[in-house]
Amino acid sequence: MPLRFRSRVSRVAVAGLVGMVGVVALLGFSAAQPVSSQTDASPGQPGTPYLDMPSLAPIGVRADRYLPIPKEDAAPPIDPAKGYRTQKLGRDLYMVTDNGYQSMFMVYETGVVVIDAPLGYSAHIRQAIAEVTDRPITHVIYSHAHTDHIGGVNDLGGHPVIIAQEETKRLLEKAKDPRRPLPTVTFKDSYSLKVGSQRLDLTYPGSPHEPGNIFIYAPEQKVLMVVDMVFPGWMPWRRFALAKDVPGYFDQVAYIDTLPWETLVGGHVNRVGTHADVRRQLEFMNDIKAAAAAALKSTPPGEEMAAEDKANAWAVYDNYIDRVVVKCMNAVTPKWQSRLGGYDAFIWDQCYAMEQSIRID
Ligand SMILES: [Zn+2]
Repeated sequence: MPLRFRSRVSRVAVAGLVGMVGVVALLGFSAAQPVSSQTDASPGQPGTPYLDMPSLAPIGVRADRYLPIPKEDAAPPIDPAKGYRTQKLGRDLYMVTDNGYQSMFMVYETGVVVIDAPLGYSAHIRQAIAEVTDRPITHVIYSHAHTDHIGGVNDLGGHPVIIAQEETKRLLEKAKDPRRPLPTVTFKDSYSLKVGSQRLDLTYPGSPHEPGNIFIYAPEQKVLMVVDMVFPGWMPWRRFALAKDVPGYFDQVAYIDTLPWETLVGGHVNRVGTHADVRRQLEFMNDIKAAAAAALKSTPPGEEMAAEDKANAWAVYDNYIDRVVVKCMNAVTPKWQSRLGGYDAFIWDQCYAMEQSIRID
């Protein structure tokens, strides 16, 4: 509480425009009656907090400290001298990670297939491979077009065959980014890469995250890699991992759980996932959907705001959406704040994305 007190007071001090009445209201925001905005407040400045304002720092307000990460999600540490760690996932199949990003490589009789080259540690991928084999990198697979996952591919050297879904090629042709060379082999629905005694099945069931984002499955090792969809043990990245299609994101997380893999590589966070992780994320997503839907139903537009602003449609919606999100936050926080790593970092973003998707999708 002292930390929150300081951050609220310092916000007021920086704004420098809220009078003593406003400060008293800030400190006593649990008043039982709906509070309407001060009509003598300075236009455009932070005002009286909404009724039942959550204590978790809203977007744009500094949290002096974040909630602790659940102990079960403690990851093997990264050796700072190396900048990555390697984890074997099955016969000659490895994950490379810096505990923030994840990529893979698969060794076969005469070479190596690399899947993704995240910018953060792409300079170390060749070293990670050299710890296992001296065979050359012959193939690279792009999970999707996003720079953070494939922008380090030039660090791999040589002239590997680059395989991607055709939408990824289309996006990369538009991007004209020298860090992301165009794929040399593309496919539409599925592609089986057979190299020596190893196999990877690439499929494209469509993607709510980004066109061209594919499923990469190693059938012998029962390892599935799908990037930016499931975040084992963690809050998804903000706004459902920036899903271009939020209802589709819900459907595809459920679909991932129906497939026969045993290990999931999600492209992010500090560990691989299980089916229990997928179900836990789905449970969280369904809770937030129910909370936002209930909040939309029970929140009348135009309350808790100055009468003078009610002809301003954007202001009415800004106020309305905020109050819906406050209710969403209060409904999901008690159950989830200690169960997902980084809950407080992005829960506001998720509630904003959820209420918007329910209203317009
Ligand atoms: Zn992405």
